[in-house]
Amino acid sequence: MPSPFSTKGCDANGRWSRPPDGFSYLWPAQNAYQFVPVGQSRALSLKTDHRPWTLTAVDLTMSGGIDVRLNARKTVIGPFQTYVLEPGMKYPLDLTGNAEAALALVMSTPGEADKPLLYAHAGGTLTVHYAVNVILRDCSQTLEQYSRSELLTLLREVETSYAQANIRLVRVGPIHLLELKTMSLGPQIITDSRHGDLIRDHITASGRGHLKNLVYGWDFESEPKPPNAANLSSGLTEFGGNVCFIDWGNRSMVTAHELGHALRLIDRPRGDITIMQPQRSSAPFIPFDYAQIEVLRMVAKQVA
Ligand SMILES: [Zn+2]
Repeated sequence: MPSPFSTKGCDANGRWSRPPDGFSYLWPAQNAYQFVPVGQSRALSLKTDHRPWTLTAVDLTMSGGIDVRLNARKTVIGPFQTYVLEPGMKYPLDLTGNAEAALALVMSTPGEADKPLLYAHAGGTLTVHYAVNVILRDCSQTLEQYSRSELLTLLREVETSYAQANIRLVRVGPIHLLELKTMSLGPQIITDSRHGDLIRDHITASGRGHLKNLVYGWDFESEPKPPNAANLSSGLTEFGGNVCFIDWGNRSMVTAHELGHALRLIDRPRGDITIMQPQRSSAPFIPFDYAQIEVLRMVAKQVA
């Protein structure tokens, strides 16, 4: 059965038609997840089939941190709020985050084994700091000029995608324009350890510690080349590392992906709809799913 829960911007396959807000379907499809930033609300809806259903909200953290607004008859038995839902109806469902909390919303109808579930998690703002470096040229080559306004637009998109997990990306310092004069790197700036270290040495002292460093350049490649190098040359970040290399020519979704690796997310297989699927073609919006949101928040708490 399809999930009775939905959010305006997301279809049953988790595809977005508006900026993502932390809603995703879990597997199996009747389970759904919604992240709610503290101080904000998320509007969802709920659809019943030809049968009468009940919806029970269980406050898992017993904190009262998530308010449920649903226009239906409600009974309260201990920690359970149960709503009576009529057959063949669509109900708007609003969730408001007041404090860190977890809530399970479970649907049931007599004689049906499936109990569609929406898991909601409310969390406060977490801050991740990052710095930006652009390699303009080395001593032998003059490389393509970058556009500051394009870069700022891109960074705003990345910041929006992380906002769905209530992670605030804050840029530290100005955009550092790097000219590598000590050695010719040729037209291909290679991110092996020697050349990678040379670039790392150019990152300012403020770039150490937990700060995530985005390094934009032209023709980044890793060496030795992995077998499917053509698909991998657009970005490179060591798992959990703090330096993300992003090729200027392929940067639209790569920055959010590489930053994901810096925050300990791993690649997803082909067919996955999230930003961590490396071959994913560009899309207007970049979703994370429930597991990624939970990992991002755990890691961001450590680096904040
Ligand atoms: Zn990757």
